Amino acid sequence: MNHTATAERLKYQLALPFLAANHLVRRTGIDYHDMELFKDVNPLDWEDWHWQVKNRICAKAELAKIINLTKEEEDGMKRASGKLALAITPHLATLMDPVDPNCPIRRQFVPLGAEFQVTPHEMSDPCAEDRDSPAPGLVHRYPDRVLLLATECCAAYCRHCTRRRMVGDKPHVCAPTKFDEALEYIKSNRKIRDVLISGGDPFMLENDELEEIIKGVRAISHVEFLRIGTRVPVSLPQRINEDLIKMLKKYSPIWLSIHFNHPKEINKRTKSACDMLSDNGFPLGSQTVLLKGINDKPYIMRRLMHELLEIRARPYYIYQCDPVKGTAHFRTPVAVGINIIEKLRGHTSGYAVPTYVIDGPGGGGKIPVGPNYVLSQAKGKYVLRNYRGKIYTYIE
Ligand code: SF4
Repeated sequence: MNHTATAERLKYQLALPFLAANHLVRRTGIDYHDMELFKDVNPLDWEDWHWQVKNRICAKAELAKIINLTKEEEDGMKRASGKLALAITPHLATLMDPVDPNCPIRRQFVPLGAEFQVTPHEMSDPCAEDRDSPAPGLVHRYPDRVLLLATECCAAYCRHCTRRRMVGDKPHVCAPTKFDEALEYIKSNRKIRDVLISGGDPFMLENDELEEIIKGVRAISHVEFLRIGTRVPVSLPQRINEDLIKMLKKYSPIWLSIHFNHPKEINKRTKSACDMLSDNGFPLGSQTVLLKGINDKPYIMRRLMHELLEIRARPYYIYQCDPVKGTAHFRTPVAVGINIIEKLRGHTSGYAVPTYVIDGPGGGGKIPVGPNYVLSQAKGKYVLRNYRGKIYTYIE
């Protein structure tokens, strides 16, 4: 590595004290004024989510001004067009290590050539969502809950995305689909008590567009529980602003399912977006996808879970990466996920232990997988092991 690269790395490491405890407030990423591409940006523009979306990095030439592209990344960029195109917000760009190709933010948002290899058992719709869709934009799998796919757009496109068959083909157009048929279906099915509005990312819609959907769902009396799935606290924290909060509060309670994969995604700006949501009464649950080379080490996952608790987000699920086409390079053996739970359960606060699940390929839904603590069971007697491997007998 040459001297310039070493200096760059040092500056970056000072800016991001990765994996050091209690540094959330100090961890900020690179100051955008120090970046060639953004050095003249007005702070008011930087904080404007529309500006962030308009100025996303979607081309190789722009990305090359931020990171030293590897051959693998150049290859991926050349081929990433159409479905799941490249889009990286300026905010995310400040978190990318310019010199380390293994940077977890780079790995998640910059395509690699490996993405274009399809392995056996991979599918375009591994969770069979299209099959279980009784109306446009609606997925109905479990008896009492549905998923409403509000938009195909996201602030940035995660290369491991399960819905890569549908997201990202119109990265600059976020027109909401009309949901009359979906709302009618929910209305006529009184068993549905839980609606998750997801996508794409529903927070890519304008407030009035999103409000139209929320209002429609809230008008259905048997819907008790409303959730919104979003990744903007990570990719576009500027979207969480007063106007959005004001609109959402009219329809409280709303739970937010957020998506964090690595401690590096949690920083000062993200924390303030999550604080704004929590302070205004929106409970946060975080989902994480297990990704090879990114968060597949127990110490990284433990740090992530702890930092999530620090920003008042309850770790909810760790997902085995779905067998979606072009994601083999992200998938780990299932044993890796089980071992992570083994290293969490009992070793840290119960609130920091999510459920590890595999989405049953072909539409089986979420199936919990984890270490086995029941060693044997006979009439009235259970032989159990604890987190340290000590054996105990429980008499019923
Ligand atoms: S934010 Fe969610 S839907 Fe959008 S690309 Fe990432 S994983 Fe897919």
